[in-house]
Amino acid sequence: MIKFLDLQKINLQYQEEIEASLLRVFRSGWYLQGEEVRQFEKNFSNYIGTPHAIGVANGMDALRLILRAYMELGFMQEGDEIIVPSNTYIASLLAITDNRLVPVLVEPSLANYNMNLSLVEEKITAKTKAIMLVHLYGQVSFSTEIVSFAKKYQLQIIEDNAQAIGAMYDGIKTGNLGDVAGYSFYPGKNLGALGDGGAITCKDDALAMKIRSLANYGSSQKYVHVCKGWNSRLDEIQAAILDVKLKYIEIENAKRRIIAKRYCTEIKNDKLILPTFPLQEKEHVWHLFVVRTANRLDLQSYLLANGIQTLIHYPIPIHHQEAYAELKTLQLPICEKIHDEVLSIPISSVLEDTEIEQIIHCLNAY
Ligand SMILES: *Cc1c(COP(=O)(O)O)cnc(C)c1O
Repeated sequence: MIKFLDLQKINLQYQEEIEASLLRVFRSGWYLQGEEVRQFEKNFSNYIGTPHAIGVANGMDALRLILRAYMELGFMQEGDEIIVPSNTYIASLLAITDNRLVPVLVEPSLANYNMNLSLVEEKITAKTKAIMLVHLYGQVSFSTEIVSFAKKYQLQIIEDNAQAIGAMYDGIKTGNLGDVAGYSFYPGKNLGALGDGGAITCKDDALAMKIRSLANYGSSQKYVHVCKGWNSRLDEIQAAILDVKLKYIEIENAKRRIIAKRYCTEIKNDKLILPTFPLQEKEHVWHLFVVRTANRLDLQSYLLANGIQTLIHYPIPIHHQEAYAELKTLQLPICEKIHDEVLSIPISSVLEDTEIEQIIHCLNAY
């Protein structure tokens, strides 16, 4: 069986270094808010290119904290609108509605499954305060026009960079394209911890300070609380592991790119719509390799019968989820089409050549 994602195999590549990190933290007797997190934050901010990086408990918290910090700083208030792609993972929306902000859903583009940026301006109202760009499946969602709209209408650009760590647009990394970005280190992400983890990067000092304090009970000085914060921390153990894996993220992403290039050139089947390999190849880090087909459950069971595990990202659009009944009247035909037709095939960095060939062969024979 070719697993969709073999996490054990991915992490065993770094066994010696990860075990040394685990042991170091274990023996140190210091498990939260210590040197490991500080070191990782420093290396991570250097990697992304932002002055600030803040480790937090998970990716959803990263997004929630960003929005809450803007509210605390007076840039936003309850009822303000945040523009967001309609086909994102639900965490992007939960972060918005959890802060009593209003998500304004925009259709994606069939060309790259990211928000159709040409539809953004018409969604801007007097209540719009931010555009949340989600680099879905690992592909950059950005344009210079978005920056102009943001300037013109005084909007913040927030990046949900959970799926695209390491992707670049014109030499600038995702996470450093907008004002602030949230990251997830969920084990299956391109930079994955051995449990939950997340981060926020940003340029603005005041925003960084507010986020740090919100993630620490609204406090930057012990037992002095200036606002009603939460507890959202990255553990020392996860930080130590992530610091090891950060050294190899470029290699990991390069391996994914090589596989994606092979899939894009060697898979030839009229029944399948493949993603486009971008001209600027660093614009994609291939968190997922998503194909579209009219009957994806048929394709999925065919592949499974041939020993290939696949997943669907995602089967039900957010506006059709019970949790978001208030959105159910939205008409989002492109978003719905994507949710009906997508299937993600294995693209992890540890796939063997023989496995890649088997996947290509099976898809061509379908
Ligand atoms: C994974 C993910 C998140 C949430 O991250 P968690 O660490 O699981 O909380 C948010 N947005 C997107 C696009 C994601 O893929």
